[in-house]
Amino acid sequence: MAEVREFKTETKRLLDLMINSIYTNKEIFLRELISNASDAIDKHYYLSLTDNSVKKVDEYKIFLEVDKKKRTFTISDNGIGMTYDELIDSLGTIAKSGSLEFYEKLKQSKDKDSIDIIGQFGVGFYSAFMVSDLVEVYTKSYKSEKAYLFTSKGVDTYEISEVEKEDVGTKIVLHLRKNTKEENYDEFLEEYMIRNLVKKYSDYIRYPIQMEVKKTVPKKDENGKDIDGKYIEVLEIETLNSMMPIWKKSRSEVTDEELNEFYKLKYYDYEDPLETIFFNVEGAINYTALIYIPKKAPYNLYSEKYEKGLQLYSKSVFIMDKCKELVPDYFRFVKGLVDSDDLSLNISREILQHNTDLEKMAKNIEKKIAFRLEAMLKNEREKYIKFFEMYGVNLKYGVYDNFGLKKDLLQDLLIYRTIKDDDYITLNEYVEAMPKDQKYIYYASGKTKEQVLALPQMDLVKKHGYNVLILTDEIDEFVMQVLREYKKKEFKSINQDDLDLLDKEETEKLDELAKDKKALLDKMKEILSEDVKDVVLSKRLTDSPVCLVSEDGISFEMEKFIASLPNQEKPKATKILEINPKHQLFNAIEKLFIDNDEKLADYVKLLYNQALLIEGFKLDDPVDFSNKMTELMIKASKR
Ligand code: ADP
Repeated sequence: MAEVREFKTETKRLLDLMINSIYTNKEIFLRELISNASDAIDKHYYLSLTDNSVKKVDEYKIFLEVDKKKRTFTISDNGIGMTYDELIDSLGTIAKSGSLEFYEKLKQSKDKDSIDIIGQFGVGFYSAFMVSDLVEVYTKSYKSEKAYLFTSKGVDTYEISEVEKEDVGTKIVLHLRKNTKEENYDEFLEEYMIRNLVKKYSDYIRYPIQMEVKKTVPKKDENGKDIDGKYIEVLEIETLNSMMPIWKKSRSEVTDEELNEFYKLKYYDYEDPLETIFFNVEGAINYTALIYIPKKAPYNLYSEKYEKGLQLYSKSVFIMDKCKELVPDYFRFVKGLVDSDDLSLNISREILQHNTDLEKMAKNIEKKIAFRLEAMLKNEREKYIKFFEMYGVNLKYGVYDNFGLKKDLLQDLLIYRTIKDDDYITLNEYVEAMPKDQKYIYYASGKTKEQVLALPQMDLVKKHGYNVLILTDEIDEFVMQVLREYKKKEFKSINQDDLDLLDKEETEKLDELAKDKKALLDKMKEILSEDVKDVVLSKRLTDSPVCLVSEDGISFEMEKFIASLPNQEKPKATKILEINPKHQLFNAIEKLFIDNDEKLADYVKLLYNQALLIEGFKLDDPVDFSNKMTELMIKASKR
C-alpha cells in the first residue's frame, strides 16, 4: 500500500516557484540529477574502500534512457541509494545544502528577482519538476534489504511504497510535461540535446554517463568485410562525458568559464566567484587545490552554524565535505577542494587534526591565498576593494588573533579610508606619503567617516597636513594594539594621550600658561572628579573648545564595544578633559571662576557633557543636560 505524505511548507513554496517559474533555463534539471547521482556513487565508492561489509561494485555508472513514446527520461545510478527514512528526509523536506541556501536567498529577496536566479543556483532534486509533471524515484540503499518507490506530482503530497528492485542505487523516472507554445519538452528526448547538455554541464563528472545511441556503420558481408556504400543502424552504449575531474586538468586546458560553472554547481552560488585560485603542488606531498572566493559572503558566515573548510579528495575519491583543518579562520569564506595523491582514504576526522601532511597543505594553502590577495591588491585595486569590503573584517580578526601571530602575513592586506580623500590606502602607502617631520601613524575611531572628521582633536593634525586613518570597525583598535607599529612607525590614536604635535616653543608656552591657570584647572578637576582623571590645557585643539582623550590602554571605542557585549566586566577608558585656552569659552569659564559664580559647576559639567557627545558617548543624565542648555539659551536671549 502506498503511503501518502505531505510536503513541508517551505518545500511546497519552493516547488511552486520551480514549476511556475517563467525561467526558461529548464535544462539544468539534468545537471542537478547527474550531480546527485555522482555524489551518491562517490559515497558508495568511499564506503566500499573503507568498510569491508560494503560490497564492491565493478563498474560505477550513471545511465540515461529515453522513451519517446511514453515521453519519459530516466536517470539511474549505482550509488548508495536511500533508505525509507532517508527518502523522507531528503526528498520530502528541503534538504541541506543547495535547496536550503536557495530558499534562504529566496526569503531575503523580492520574488521577482528570485525567479531569475532559479537555474543558476544548485536547486537540486526539485528542479526535476521544472520539466516533469510526475516524478518516480526507485531506490534501494546499500544498508537495506527493501527498495522503495517515491512518486510525486510536485504539488502538495508525495507517496511512498515498497517495490522490487534488485540492485543498490537509484533510478529516477521523469514524465515530461506537455509541450506548450513556449516550451518544447520533447527536446529533452533527443540524443543531440542530451549529448550537448552532458558536455556543457557534466563533462568532468568522474563516472561514465552513458546512453544507448544509434550509430550508422558500414554493412558487412559474411566474411566480416565492409560492403561498399551499404550502411546499417546499430545501437551502442556510449559514454558521453570525458570523466576527467576539472581539477585534474592542467590550468591551460580549462577555461575560466568552465571553472566558474563548476563553482556555481558545486558550491551553490548563482554568481561567478570573485576569484579562483587553482594550483598544483609537487614535492614532499602532492596535491591540487581549487579554491574560490565567492562574490558575496554566505548569509550565515558569521553565525555559529557556519562551517568553514574545503572538500577533501584523495586520488580523486571524495573523502569529506568540510575539512576545516585546511583553512585558517580568517579565510573561512573560501570554498573549494583539495585532492591529494598522498592521503590515506581511511583518514578519520580525529586523525585529521594531527596529520602532518594536512598541516603542511594547510600552511601552503594559507600562503597561496594570501599571496593571491596581495597580487589582487597590487594589480586589480577595484576588485580588491570589493573583496575587502566584503571580507576585510576577517583579515583584521586574523591579525588580532593569537596575539598577532599572523600579522606579518596579513598586515599588508589591510586597507583603510583616511581623512584626505575617498580612496583606501595600505599601511605602506600611508608611511610612504608621510611628511618628513611626522613621527607617528595617526588613526581616529568613530561610527562613520563623518563622525571622525568632526572630532575636535582633528584640528591640529590636519593643520600639520598629516593624514589620519579612519577606523570604523569594532575590531580596528584592537588590531592597532596588536600591530603597535608598522615599518618602525608607531600607531597613535588622535583620541589618546599626548599627540606630540607642537614644537618646543609652543609646548613651553602652554606649560607656562597651565601653571598660570592651575587654580582654575584644579577647580574643574574637582567638579568633574567622578568623571575624569584630569583637566588639562589642550595641545591638539585649534578651533574647538573642548575634547576628551583617553590614556593609553583602553580607548573610547573599546569601552563602547565592550559595553555592548553581554555579561562582561565593563572596564572603562581613563578620560582626560582637554580645554582649548585659545577659545572664547575658556575665557568665559575663567570669568565665572574669578567672579566666584555659583554657576561655574553647572557650566563645567555642561562642557564635559558636550565633550562626551562629540565622542559618541551616551550621557548619564540627558534630562539634566537638556535643562541646563535650555536655561542657558533663555539667559542668552535676555541679554
Ligand atoms: P542536495 O543534493 O543539494 O543535498 P537535493 O535536493 O538535490 O539536494 O538532494 C537532497 C538529498 O537527497 C541529497 O543530499 C541526497 O542525500 C539525496 N539524494 C538525491 N539524489 C540521490 C541519489 N541519486 N542517490 C542517493 N541519494 C540521493
